Amino acid sequence: MELKKFEFWFIVGSQDLYGEETLKQVADHAQVMAGEFDRDPLIPGTVVLKPVAKSPDGIRKLFEEANAAQHCAGIITWMHTFSPSKMWIGGLGINKKPLLHLHTQFNRDIPWSAIDMDFMNLNQSAHGDREHGYIYARMRISRKVVAGFWQDGAVRQRIGVWMRAAAARFDGIASPVLRLGDNMREVAVTEGDKIEAQIKFGWQVNTWGIGDLAARYNQVSDASAEALVREYEAAYELAPDLRSPGPKRSAMLEQAKIEIALKEFLETEHAGAFTTTFQDLHGLPQLPGLACQRLMEQGYGFGAEGDWKHSMLVRSAKVMAAGLPGGVSFMEDYTYHFEPGKEAALGAHMLEVCPSIANKKPRIEVHPLGIGGKADPARMVFDAAPGPAVLATLVDLGDRLRMIVNEVETITIDQAMPKLPVARALWKPYPNLRDAAESWIITGGAHHSVYATALSSEYFRDWAEIAGIEFVLIDKDTKPVRLQDELRWGEAYWSGRT
Ligand code: MN
Repeated sequence: MELKKFEFWFIVGSQDLYGEETLKQVADHAQVMAGEFDRDPLIPGTVVLKPVAKSPDGIRKLFEEANAAQHCAGIITWMHTFSPSKMWIGGLGINKKPLLHLHTQFNRDIPWSAIDMDFMNLNQSAHGDREHGYIYARMRISRKVVAGFWQDGAVRQRIGVWMRAAAARFDGIASPVLRLGDNMREVAVTEGDKIEAQIKFGWQVNTWGIGDLAARYNQVSDASAEALVREYEAAYELAPDLRSPGPKRSAMLEQAKIEIALKEFLETEHAGAFTTTFQDLHGLPQLPGLACQRLMEQGYGFGAEGDWKHSMLVRSAKVMAAGLPGGVSFMEDYTYHFEPGKEAALGAHMLEVCPSIANKKPRIEVHPLGIGGKADPARMVFDAAPGPAVLATLVDLGDRLRMIVNEVETITIDQAMPKLPVARALWKPYPNLRDAAESWIITGGAHHSVYATALSSEYFRDWAEIAGIEFVLIDKDTKPVRLQDELRWGEAYWSGRT
């Protein structure tokens, strides 16, 4: 996943009033900034500098070009000088790309002894960006505002967060989800409006028969499976009963064949994500377990029980996290620990948790699975690495989509759980288990989520803002009774919005 393939256009605003000399300085400064941004690893996309914007026609044309530009994933605007905002109405009115309003100034310091009106006229972002911010607010245009000195790492970091969210948005349009089977019978929260999802996120959510995967599975040779298992041997630990020929090793080889078949299928359909369901496995020997873990590790989105919303959310988080330390996984809240003072939630899934969140080398094991009625599946077993993490979930409320994010602290599991051979994570949610759980429940959050140590809540906030959906944060400041009021106010905001 190469984020440099995404272009971000840097449009610096001014006007003709200042004369050629000032406009040349504006253009020179913009070039220096674009170059530095482009070289900084905190800013993952390619920054493309556009000519200084100084007339209504020129600005409209820039936005027309951006809309048509295949690789343009977003636009950054900044007013070096004053740029009267009526000139921007035509361009902003037709814009289809995610927007970031950078509020900065080329000079860090006021040159106290030398400052004169020429300096003031050239370095008047404090003034020009207020005019620019007004027109965004007046037109109700969604955008991220980042204020601060442009060479400051924290400013660049926040631009980078937004770029990653915009890249995920762009990727969503080009990476459909391959649904193998429908949603788990009778489950409500994994359902949703697939048309709305495509309108909001670009996600194409279509279905394929599990028989198509089974047919591919039957074509995979034993030699290809053995070759893939050699990769497993290099990357993970193998339980002793998997190292020698026998039924358990065969179970791992079956998962290797599923991985190969699934990957070919995903590549053929140009899909970025997929779902499975244990209720529809005709022609497959096992529920895909290890195969799903491996494909998530390679950057594919995954959702169990037909959960296409979380499959695409895992994919979006994988794009946002590309190249960052930490991991991203499909996750499920499973069991609580209510011991006073040590309250925590244990997250896991039947099989399908991504090894990118592991604290050490995962171990492949084969054990029976209570549901699905298929053979014992191979899976990777590990504990999640301790540290800050977020849980993000996406639900369909009927008239809109809502994202809920909970900031958590993952802790070390200091007890052995010899009878629980699955990947698991133990976390303490903020503000505390009781208030976090109450908040999540009143907000309608799902049992499925995306678990990310590579991302903070800001990534998901930017992503939700770009998609134009509701975003609810549960963090150290959250109080459930206050949140309940905010959700009610939100009903007024969202009613009638499309
Ligand atoms: Mn589940």
